[in-house]
Amino acid sequence: MPLGAHVTISGGVFKAPERARALTCDCMQIFSKNQMQWKAKPLTAEDADRFIAGLEEHDIVQTVIHDSYLINLASPDEMLLERSRDAFLDEMMRAKKLGVRYLIFHPGAHVGSGEQKGIQRIAESLNWASSRFGSSDVELLLEITAGQGSVLGHSFEQLAGIMDLLDDRSSAGICFDTCHAYAAGYDVRTPKGYERTIEQLDDYLGIDKLRAVHLNDSKGKLGSRLDRHEEIGKGHIGLEGFANIVNDSRLEDLPMVLETPHGEKRYAHELKTLRSLVRKS
Ligand SMILES: [Zn+2]
Ligand SMILES: [Zn+2]
Repeated sequence: MPLGAHVTISGGVFKAPERARALTCDCMQIFSKNQMQWKAKPLTAEDADRFIAGLEEHDIVQTVIHDSYLINLASPDEMLLERSRDAFLDEMMRAKKLGVRYLIFHPGAHVGSGEQKGIQRIAESLNWASSRFGSSDVELLLEITAGQGSVLGHSFEQLAGIMDLLDDRSSAGICFDTCHAYAAGYDVRTPKGYERTIEQLDDYLGIDKLRAVHLNDSKGKLGSRLDRHEEIGKGHIGLEGFANIVNDSRLEDLPMVLETPHGEKRYAHELKTLRSLVRKS
């Protein structure tokens, strides 16, 4: 399975493929712009061409984009919601320009307005963006969340609730984050708990909807609802938990990327650890 990490785009998005390869990544995740700012300079055709050529040159087999942390597609604040939708549509267009098929995002936070309203607003936001985008080149991947505060999407049931309200379900998929799932109460650490988790995912969403995995250990305990990533093997999920995932043949074609706290300083080491967990068949 392709293993990789979230790499920075400092110096330009086209620098990411080389950086990823230097860290021994087969696949990668990037932000397509500064994730803490609403606006970004438009991507030029030259940036995009260099990026795409870099993927080929450095043999990065899959890329996913994570959207900006500022975006909240469930915001009850009209102005913030409008800003979020515009920014999200822009993320979709940037992904298309870069030839990246998957855009990963946290569904949103209802900020006190209630779970049902929040779920509805997220689906409306996605329908709004998809109708304006007008192409099926970019798939929107709802990421499972830890459920901190009023953040939605911390159960397969909630994710399915959003999916069911979409005008076009075929343009959406799921990103499974190990830390978030564990903090949300899915025990991926034991083989039995992991199996049950995948079964539930399949029941609510269909395992064919799973498109990407975030590999993060968890600083918080099972069900803690804490979104605190930890280095692989040093948290509550531990190496036995990651062994369940990297040996699951149902997931073997999915891009799996690290978003662990030490970033590029430790990714090569962590990828080596993950690869050592793969059982030779
Ligand atoms: Zn994640
Ligand atoms: Zn997280």
